[in-house]
Amino acid sequence: MNIKELDSEYIAGTYGRFPLVLKSGKGSLVWDEDGREYIDLGTGIAVNTFGIADEEWNSAVTAQLSKLSHTSNLYYSEPCAKLAEALCLRTGMKKVFFSNSGAEANECAIKVARKYAAEKKGREYYTIITLKNSFHGRTITTLAATGQDVFHNDFTPLTEGFAYAGANCIEEVEALVAENKCAAVMMEMVQGEGGVNPLNEDFVSDVAELCRRKDILLICDEVQCGNGRCGSLYAYMNYGIEPDIVSTAKGLAGGLPLGATMLGEKVKDVLTPSSHGSTFGGNPVCSAGALNILSRIDDELLADVRKKSEYIKNVLCGADGIVSVSGMGLMLGVKTERDAGEVIAECMENGVLVIKAKDKVRLLPALNIPMELLSRAVEVLKRAAANK
Ligand SMILES: *Cc1c(COP(=O)(O)O)cnc(C)c1O
Repeated sequence: MNIKELDSEYIAGTYGRFPLVLKSGKGSLVWDEDGREYIDLGTGIAVNTFGIADEEWNSAVTAQLSKLSHTSNLYYSEPCAKLAEALCLRTGMKKVFFSNSGAEANECAIKVARKYAAEKKGREYYTIITLKNSFHGRTITTLAATGQDVFHNDFTPLTEGFAYAGANCIEEVEALVAENKCAAVMMEMVQGEGGVNPLNEDFVSDVAELCRRKDILLICDEVQCGNGRCGSLYAYMNYGIEPDIVSTAKGLAGGLPLGATMLGEKVKDVLTPSSHGSTFGGNPVCSAGALNILSRIDDELLADVRKKSEYIKNVLCGADGIVSVSGMGLMLGVKTERDAGEVIAECMENGVLVIKAKDKVRLLPALNIPMELLSRAVEVLKRAAANK
């Protein structure tokens, strides 16, 4: 059997894959099993922050791999301690819990919010408000947090205690806060899976103010929009707010599985021995990768991310067949007159990998993609959108 046949025979049928077997890559280039070359504007869904097989990242990871690849959390180890310090110094958050994925980072955020509210206000204060069209993960609880019925249908009953407000509708948030005993509001600054939609600044600052007034925790899900993706280290920094909890994963370790839940002043001591845990969480190899990534997301790189974002918008906005470009930094959603799936397939035929978000073409290039590759890839997308 070839790889596609093996996969459909033996791998659970959860993924509608593109008809492409990827074999190797270098930076923003990737090759399939027949040696065809593609420019990668998807980075494994915002994971390969500095592209594939990046040399500096490779050395950091392999050095740790050959020293100590796993310890469990029964012992101290250097990489995760240093990574937690770096995250706190860069964000002003106070403590970090490490896990292995975005869903787990959000699970931890939810547990912390419930425990904080139970201890401070009473156990009945468990409701967490999330936004319609959000995406927070695939576990039963993070599915419950996800404000999209399509994800819920076959898996009920889900975890109780979530209520959904319209994105950018402060009146709906206020109404839910009035009706429910709330622990937290959780939201993505840029809804990724929901179609690459940034929240409005006024809405975000109104929610932050409401949370402060009512002692409701503000949780930012930065699993996709964080780690430099939106032109600041974390997307909430573009909004001038100070969340109580920040969850992240995807791009954090630059291609290895690592989740982090950062805890601010109010909640820094909520987690106590055995209240939460993870066997792999903060794994030394993943943490070494993340330390390397984080050290390179500096002001110069972030300015470059914003510049490349402007470049893409300038080329695409108003071009033939392009309806709009949404998003921030190098997390962009391109609405085309043609069906997004057709545009994506045509890009692939012409050597460019892009992905979908709802009815849009989603661009998530490596933060250090060379301008020459970026401009070639954007031209391919532009021609596909124009159907030329
Ligand atoms: C991808 C994603 C998740 C889930 O992350 P996994 O690592 O797949 O569990 C959660 N929240 C957001 C905003 C995401 O984009």
